[in-house]
Amino acid sequence: MPAEFGATPWGRAWVRTIESTSTAGPNALLPRARTLARNTTTVVAAGTGHVEADVAVSGEVCRVRIDLPVWPDETQAEAARLVAKAMAEHRGMAAGDLPDMLEADFRRHAISIAVRLEEQHSGCTCRARPRPCVHILATIYALAQLVDERPALAVELRSATAKVTVAADPDWVVLSDLDPAGFYGD
Ligand SMILES: [Zn+2]
Repeated sequence: MPAEFGATPWGRAWVRTIESTSTAGPNALLPRARTLARNTTTVVAAGTGHVEADVAVSGEVCRVRIDLPVWPDETQAEAARLVAKAMAEHRGMAAGDLPDMLEADFRRHAISIAVRLEEQHSGCTCRARPRPCVHILATIYALAQLVDERPALAVELRSATAKVTVAADPDWVVLSDLDPAGFYGD
């Protein structure tokens, strides 16, 4: 059975940004962040350089926004080249899907898909300290799931609008609209 968060190498890259073990050990907020991501987190926007989500907690909604640096022009051009090459080699992929080997290609070219926590600029309407709060972490888990469902989103997040090479999926669905059994069934 695929991992709930990070079932693909694309989503996994995002999960790693919060689960990478530091000298301090794993973040104690992660189990609760996963519960929130699973149950009460709605990603309301995700695209070029940003993610926004509403996280409901005890009848209140925390609004999260995470800004992400887009790739420098050179990196983006290189990424576009690799995407085009991979898609030419893997015809007939579902809209929004990307071959797993492309992720390995990105790594070989030192193109990072996900953004390290220290390079994200995130805000949340809650007052919890320290940051990132559990709502921001939940948002990253929810984002990882969206990226698992539609790997092209991983590229779109880091691409400046004018040069998006992977067309946005018109059939965009939020996670809660998907039947998990149907989604993972094979
Ligand atoms: Zn918060």
